[in-house]
Amino acid sequence: MKLRFYPYTLELRHAFTLATSSRTSTPAMMVEVERDGVIGYGEAAMPPYLGESQETAAAFLSKVDWDKLPDPFQLEEILPAIDALAPGHPAAKAAIDIALHDWVGKKCGAPWFRLWGLDATKAPVTSFTIGIDLPDVVRQKTREAEAYKIIKVKLGRENDRAMIAAIRDVTDKPITVDANQGWTQRDEALRMIEWLAVRGVLFVEQPMPRAQRADTAWLRERSPLPLIADESCQRLTDVAALRGVFDGISIKLMKCTGLREAHQMILLARALGLKVMLGCMTETSCAISAAAQLSPLVDWADLDGALLIKNDLFDGARIIEGKISLPNRPGIGIVKRT
Ligand code: MG
Repeated sequence: MKLRFYPYTLELRHAFTLATSSRTSTPAMMVEVERDGVIGYGEAAMPPYLGESQETAAAFLSKVDWDKLPDPFQLEEILPAIDALAPGHPAAKAAIDIALHDWVGKKCGAPWFRLWGLDATKAPVTSFTIGIDLPDVVRQKTREAEAYKIIKVKLGRENDRAMIAAIRDVTDKPITVDANQGWTQRDEALRMIEWLAVRGVLFVEQPMPRAQRADTAWLRERSPLPLIADESCQRLTDVAALRGVFDGISIKLMKCTGLREAHQMILLARALGLKVMLGCMTETSCAISAAAQLSPLVDWADLDGALLIKNDLFDGARIIEGKISLPNRPGIGIVKRT
């Protein structure tokens, strides 16, 4: 197996503002594995606030001794061994996981949704994300999101009610809210959620900081809306302890090291009675199409990451009338644009 990787910068269509940061690009590392004339593609997308960079990804990818790896079909041997090379580096690990899944699927001549036994027509609608902004910009972005059935809005600052009001000026579509840990007072968080609940909001993602687990459990007892863990849920080992604190989890390939672990997290969450949302970073259609292979298994998807960038390198899963459409191509379902 040959491994190649190169840095790539994802250029965002709009500056992306969250409760804690704002940026116009996302650093990424693109990965290719090749054997028997078949190339598998992978990607690490690394928003800076998560601590990985093109330098850390290159350093991690250089650690993998590809000559020592067994048959590349043995993902259950290879991926835990790569995970054990160093703690952290979830996006770099995801890039390898995605590339190997793509390669194996192409060798089998089947997309992963078929290898997992899933019905592609059950892929959910995806929400379209609107960052924190001034009311005029929010109204404009909401109009641009006309094709989407669900609007996801980033809250967690002082203008939360104005953001929701601006969207409601334009549309009565369901809204999902991501507070990105922005509410630190549980009483205020509860009042905010009660206000949202009568304005067509479906659920609230990560209302409070991950360290405030007891406050979040208090909030969940009283909240009229389901609470979904994002920053509180990174990997498989986090999931069991979230029962009783949240109603569901958000899974992202870049947090959990890729498709293998994401699949396991979905199964565990289901066994624990937790809802599942599949999310993303700003990513090309490589990582988005990989995640989309799992989407028939989840309750909600937030897989708009490739729509938020100007320089997508791949054609893959599409969003058609707001719904994820999985191409009938092998592997993760992508072709490189030329
Ligand atoms: Mg989130």
